[in-house]
Amino acid sequence: MTFRALYAEKADAGYRVGLRDLDDGDLRGDVLVDVAYSSLNYKDGLAITAKGKIIRKFPMVLGIDLAGTVVESSSPDFEPGDRVVGLAHGLGETEWGGYAQRQRVRADVLVPLPAALSFEQAMALGTAGFTAMLCALALEQMDVRPSERELVVTGAGGGVGSIAVMLLARRGYKVAASTGRPELEPYLRGLGASSIVPREELSKKSAPLESEKWGGGVDTVGGQTLSTLFAQTAYGGAIACCGMAGGGELNAFVWPLILRNVSLLGVSSLLTPLAQRKRAWEALAREIDGDRLASLSRVEPLSRIQELAEEIVGGKVRGRIVIDVNR
Ligand code: NDP
Repeated sequence: MTFRALYAEKADAGYRVGLRDLDDGDLRGDVLVDVAYSSLNYKDGLAITAKGKIIRKFPMVLGIDLAGTVVESSSPDFEPGDRVVGLAHGLGETEWGGYAQRQRVRADVLVPLPAALSFEQAMALGTAGFTAMLCALALEQMDVRPSERELVVTGAGGGVGSIAVMLLARRGYKVAASTGRPELEPYLRGLGASSIVPREELSKKSAPLESEKWGGGVDTVGGQTLSTLFAQTAYGGAIACCGMAGGGELNAFVWPLILRNVSLLGVSSLLTPLAQRKRAWEALAREIDGDRLASLSRVEPLSRIQELAEEIVGGKVRGRIVIDVNR
């Protein structure tokens, strides 16, 4: 059976990316999935536009997320008809990924999709939403409780940021949404933000230790923004660090660590162990507000993926984009 996929192959100047028809026989992996939707993450944008070194093997089918129905399985963990979600774990980097109507995936990459979530909702969440939940769970584990002090979410208009605002607000925290797009204020307040912090306020150089302002936060931006947030976090606070949309460096003094007991928590969705993945998906299924999730996401056809990739690397996408691989 032939199907359509977004394919990357080596070319003289690096690699070229385009839609192509493939055949079931081209696929490897123990579970064959009829893919319903994928999604667009920042990392997908970097891979498609060749602005980041994401693809580790060629040829590659791109797309770090997928949700769909199992058609065939040689693994005892899955059977035909199961609804599954797969993300990260090398999809679109070392293993063929989700921008395809069908895909064979290693069984250990897949998680059963909780019944409360549709395929479209699963991909409105995708790696971004899953990572936002890992951040929320990491803060909870550090005993960062809802209080009068706000938690800051940086890059709040983006995918991870929008979902983090929604999740933290649902968990009872006061959330300050930091964005470089002031026009997103009504949108971010609609997701539950209690205040808006202009991006420049956090991206300006800070003193090693500043007055205590925040209970902590979720940082998707990195660089100076993370350093400033770190210097302004109150005693006992924690920052879940998951992104670098604004820079990969971290220039900071140790003072918040040793004088204020502030924690920097590393969060990676890449190789999350199965038990933790299941816990995070179950928590998402329980805590997601369907109307708010719909307000932060839109569905686009796979045929537009290259334009959309330019938009996300240009910081122009609001919230999340679900990719309909059948259009
Ligand atoms: P998006 O592009 O959807 O969002 C990024 C947001 O960051 C933008 O919308 C913008 O928000 C802000 N931003 C962009 N450029 C800059 C800049 N130069 N300075 C400051 N802020 C900027 O990406 P995602 O939400 O998908 O990913 C965000 C980050 O998290 C990326 O670095 C990504 O690689 C990382 N990530 C990490 C994961 C992990 O497992 N650790 C998993 C998923 C993502 P606004 O306009 O509101 O300011």
